[in-house]
Amino acid sequence: MTEVIYMEEWRGDESEQNPNYIQTFDANITKRGETFVVLDKTAFYPLGGGQPSDTGLIEWEGGESKVTEVLKKVEIRHFVDSVPETDRVQGILDWEKRFAHMKMHTAQHVLSSVVFKMFNAKTAGNQIHADHSRVDFQPIKFTEEDLANVEEGCNEIITRSVPVHVYEEERPVLEEKMTDQRYILDMIPKSIPRLRVVDILGVDICPCAGTHVKNTSELGKVHMLERRSKGKDIDRIVYELL
Ligand SMILES: [Zn+2]
Repeated sequence: MTEVIYMEEWRGDESEQNPNYIQTFDANITKRGETFVVLDKTAFYPLGGGQPSDTGLIEWEGGESKVTEVLKKVEIRHFVDSVPETDRVQGILDWEKRFAHMKMHTAQHVLSSVVFKMFNAKTAGNQIHADHSRVDFQPIKFTEEDLANVEEGCNEIITRSVPVHVYEEERPVLEEKMTDQRYILDMIPKSIPRLRVVDILGVDICPCAGTHVKNTSELGKVHMLERRSKGKDIDRIVYELL
């Protein structure tokens, strides 16, 4: 099993590095394919949950290779343009892109929470990109005024500089804590007794395996780009961060 660095807990202790911000790491190759390697630990995020795969480099003594995609099936595969022969490598994330994804993903939690509180509409899907992202809500038909209120609600939270903690929680404890958006928890199989949660303190708590910033102040400003109907009672919101 690969140890996943960014999954580690962080509860706001500024003397401890937040694991989402680790950009380089040392690792050993534990398996080689024709076009991929498996590592004993990684900070690369694999495609999933609406967040794109990280890209970057792996370096070793005397060489380097591009990491073009990271996919998790039964194992986490780092696809590379050349497979190193040596076992000891250093991983280096394309940080600009990853940090943009972290901001967008955290903004998605804020946006989903605001829309749920204002309109009781659920998040039916989402896709993060570095420059813009989208969330589909159901059941809802937003007016222009609704969108302006949602944008204002998001930016009010952002400017309050709310800490974002990440930790594991027992399912029954999380059931007590999740007063809003309980449907997210209900979609996760009951057989999973312990969940990794993202806790935007006092704003929103939900299970998530993605990467996030450590404080909402890092998000800048949410700006709505577009509203589009995706069906009878589904509306898509496209947003950017300024
Ligand atoms: Zn998340």
